[in-house]
Amino acid sequence: MNDGTINTRKEALAQRLKRYFTGEACKRGHVAEWDVNFGCVECIAEREASKREASDKAKAARKAYAASDEGKVAHKAYVASDKGKATKAAYQASDKAKAAKAAYEASDEGKAIKAAYAASEKGKAAKAAYVASDKGRAAKATYDASDKRKAWLAAYRASDKAKAAKATYDASDKRKAWWAAYRASDKAKAAQARRREAKAAALLSVVTT
Ligand SMILES: [Zn+2]
Repeated sequence: MNDGTINTRKEALAQRLKRYFTGEACKRGHVAEWDVNFGCVECIAEREASKREASDKAKAARKAYAASDEGKVAHKAYVASDKGKATKAAYQASDKAKAAKAAYEASDEGKAIKAAYAASEKGKAAKAAYVASDKGRAAKATYDASDKRKAWLAAYRASDKAKAAKATYDASDKRKAWWAAYRASDKAKAAQARRREAKAAALLSVVTT
């Protein structure tokens, strides 16, 4: 901006100003300041606005095409093409895609969809197949041996929830049946015999010393 005293481009350049004002109309009839590099500032603003409008129009046209039957068929063909597959694979391997996936999985929508899938027959079958696979078994073994798992287990055992679950289990018929079966087993009998022997040995040592 200037106060109207800088009237020529030469003066503006000499004073290192970006704009000057001649008071004359440009060829499109604007009486406005002039930019030393790009001319009438009103013309610059009009050019920018028409560029924006053209790009909005192009965007709308692309959107309309994508929503049309023709556009859908073309998109499907692209996705199935080698080029489309390569583009998708490259995107999925990118940090941007990974961040987007993580953000989606952490969102309420992502969680709800995941939960719905896990509860579906398809999801259950997929999980069962994974658990039974070599990869699934190896992953479980790694997890079970991890510090993370140990810490989780310790925290769980100390929780009220775990205590309540244990009390429920201890009082259950299942537990009683397990206990009865255990007592009747050779292993339990052997353990009992060992305890008896140890007691007898301890008693004997008391008596003989
Ligand atoms: Zn102009």
